[in-house]
Amino acid sequence: MKRTGIFFTHFQGERLKDFPQALAGILDKENVSYYDAVYDSRNGLYYLEPLSEERLLKVHSEDMVQRVKLTGDYESALYSAGGTVQAAEEIQQGKIDNAFVFTSFGDHHAGKNFYGGMCYFNGAALAVKGLMESGLKRVSIVDTDCHHADGTRDIFRDDKNVLHVCFCHQNYSDANNNLDVEIPYLTSDEEYLSRVRQEFVPMVTAFEPEYIFWEFGYDATQGEYGDKGLTRDCHPRLAMLFKEVADKVCQGRLITILCGGSGRALATYTIPRIIVCLAELDSYQ
Ligand SMILES: [Zn+2]
Ligand SMILES: [Zn+2]
Repeated sequence: MKRTGIFFTHFQGERLKDFPQALAGILDKENVSYYDAVYDSRNGLYYLEPLSEERLLKVHSEDMVQRVKLTGDYESALYSAGGTVQAAEEIQQGKIDNAFVFTSFGDHHAGKNFYGGMCYFNGAALAVKGLMESGLKRVSIVDTDCHHADGTRDIFRDDKNVLHVCFCHQNYSDANNNLDVEIPYLTSDEEYLSRVRQEFVPMVTAFEPEYIFWEFGYDATQGEYGDKGLTRDCHPRLAMLFKEVADKVCQGRLITILCGGSGRALATYTIPRIIVCLAELDSYQ
C-alpha cells in the first residue's frame, strides 16, 4: 500500500465544512498520515507548517508578497502553499509516497507578480522550485481545473524542465514543454479521460519526471461555475489514471492539490474517493 499524506488547512468558506470529519474512516489507516494546520496538539498527528517569506520570494516578487499581506488572507495563504511544499519534502525524505493537499487559497492563478481567482501563492511552483534547488531535474504539472493556469504558466513559461499540461479553454503548445488542451462544453467523462490519455500520458511518460503535481479543481463538474458536463465520478477516475501514471514513471510521487470548485456536497463526495485511490484503500466506511 502507498503511504499517503493529507495536508489540511481550512480557514474559511463553505466547501470544506465537512472536513476533516468526512475523512473519518480514512485518517485512522496505518498508511495515512495527517498533517493539520489547526489541531497540532492531537496525538499522532503532524503539524502543517506555514511557509516562510524567504521561500515565497523564490517564486513571487517582494511587491506581490506585500500586496497579499494587505488582503487579510496572508496567513491562510501561507498555510495553503505550505502544505504543497511540505508534501514534496516529506515525499523526498521518504516519509510518504504521495499526497493530497487541501488549500484555502491556491493555486494556479498565482504568477510571479500577480494573483487572482482566490489564488494568492502558487504552492506547486514553490514546491517545484524547492525540489529543483535540491537537485531534481524534471517535474510535471498537470492541471484539470477548468480554467487556464495563467499563474503557473507565467512562472514556468521558459523552463523546459517543467512539463506543464493544462486542460482548459484553448489549444496551445510550444517548444518549452507547455501544452494547453481545449475542453469544450458538454464533454462526457469518457471523452475527457480519453483526451488525458491521448495528450498527457504519452508526453509525461517520455518526459520522465521525478514528480507529478496534479492541480485538481472540480469546477468543470455539472452544476459548478465552470460546468463542462463532467459527472461527479470523473475526478475519482482521473485520480486512478494519474496515480497509475505516477506509479509507472516516478515511483508514485504524485501530489494532488485542491484547486477550484465551490460545491460542498461535491467536495465531500469527491475528495475522500480520491484519497482512497491514492492510499490504495479498499473502502473507507
Ligand atoms: Zn491552459
Ligand atoms: Zn477554476
